[in-house]
Amino acid sequence: MTRQPSYEVIVVGGGPAGLTTALYTTRLGHRTALVTREGGRHELVDAVHNLIGVSEETSGPELAAVAVAQLEEYGADYYEDAVTSVERVADGETGTDGGRRFHVEAAHADIFADRVVLATGFTDEAPRVPDLQRYTGHGLHYCLHCDAYTLGDASVFVVGHDDHAAEIAMTLLNFTGDVDLVLNGEDPSWDDETATQVETHPIEVLSRTVASTFPDEGAADPPWIGGLEFGDGTTREYAGGFAVYGRSYNSDLAADLGCDINDDGSVAVDDDYETSVDGVYAVGDVTHGQNQTPVAIGDGAYAGIAIHHDIRRFPLSSEECADRDAEDIEAPAAADDLRARMRRHRTLDDHAGMTPDE
Ligand SMILES: Cc1cc2nc3c(=O)[nH]c(=O)nc-3n(C[C@H](O)[C@H](O)[C@H](O)COP(=O)(O)OP(=O)(O)OC[C@H]3O[C@@H](n4cnc5c(N)ncnc54)[C@H](O)[C@@H]3O)c2cc1C
Repeated sequence: MTRQPSYEVIVVGGGPAGLTTALYTTRLGHRTALVTREGGRHELVDAVHNLIGVSEETSGPELAAVAVAQLEEYGADYYEDAVTSVERVADGETGTDGGRRFHVEAAHADIFADRVVLATGFTDEAPRVPDLQRYTGHGLHYCLHCDAYTLGDASVFVVGHDDHAAEIAMTLLNFTGDVDLVLNGEDPSWDDETATQVETHPIEVLSRTVASTFPDEGAADPPWIGGLEFGDGTTREYAGGFAVYGRSYNSDLAADLGCDINDDGSVAVDDDYETSVDGVYAVGDVTHGQNQTPVAIGDGAYAGIAIHHDIRRFPLSSEECADRDAEDIEAPAAADDLRARMRRHRTLDDHAGMTPDE
């Protein structure tokens, strides 16, 4: 019978949150695998904003590719695969009979681990406007805290018709005085309080439908958005805007495991990013709506350290020390292959990662 690969930690999801968790658990001496399929919000990031030291010329996929090279250098295993199920197969700290606690099944991989980290993110609902989505990252934005800065004093739109769309439109007034809230033929679904706010704020609410978009005439390839054409034949030029139609959290694996899910669909976690199921952690966008790369990275770091505290062998507790002598205790605890990498790492002149220009 083929022996299946087995790890201390398996991370599902290769965005900034999952990559960072795996980076920490690997460098803290735990055998770690990261399994990820294509897609995710980081893949849509054309220019990373708000990440100190990282130029806006860097895209989300470029950042992830560098992080994967770093992970592999430190000794993590990387699987490009879609996880289809995570099941608890044993109880206890490391499972019964030394077996691992969780079975992670992916389209092409069948692996086991003691701790599982879900870093599966969420998916933005597509804008209900023909042709608009192709401008994602090129004038169509989903992240106010990332992209409002790029629209200072510009003419901007928000497409959407709920409270959140109205809030985004009003918030944009901090950056520009020229904001249109485009309902695209839908009735507003916001509450009375929001209705009062919308009436008072200097934003223009356009109820008309959007028929199509047109590109900016600049030389950008792929092109930047130039504006919207409405169903009544009128057009307006915009430097960019936001689509606000909600999100769907990729929380199926967590729900199947029995993890508590919040009312909005995100996965509930405690201060250590552990879910309500012992040994299952969740990090990044799948756990909250802060939807920021640095926040996802921070979650991943925090969870990685919490997992290390949970599973590291040393220091032994005072109870474990009772009736034992130092010569009976085997150290070091980290796996042979990981320690071999740590030794090799000391001798390397070049490391994976971005090196600033001299
Ligand atoms: C257009 C756009 C621009 C943005 N710009 C910025 C910016 O400039 N600065 C900033 O700070 N933030 C930005 N953000 C937000 C940022 O991208 C997210 O907050 C961040 O990517 C969240 O990281 P994450 O790891 O939690 O999730 P994600 O990046 O969404 O990664 C989740 C990963 O899990 C994988 N996955 C899901 N389910 C499975 C499964 N069953 N099996 C295997 N893998 C799975 C996905 O394929 C994906 O790789 C932007 C977002 C968008 C959409």
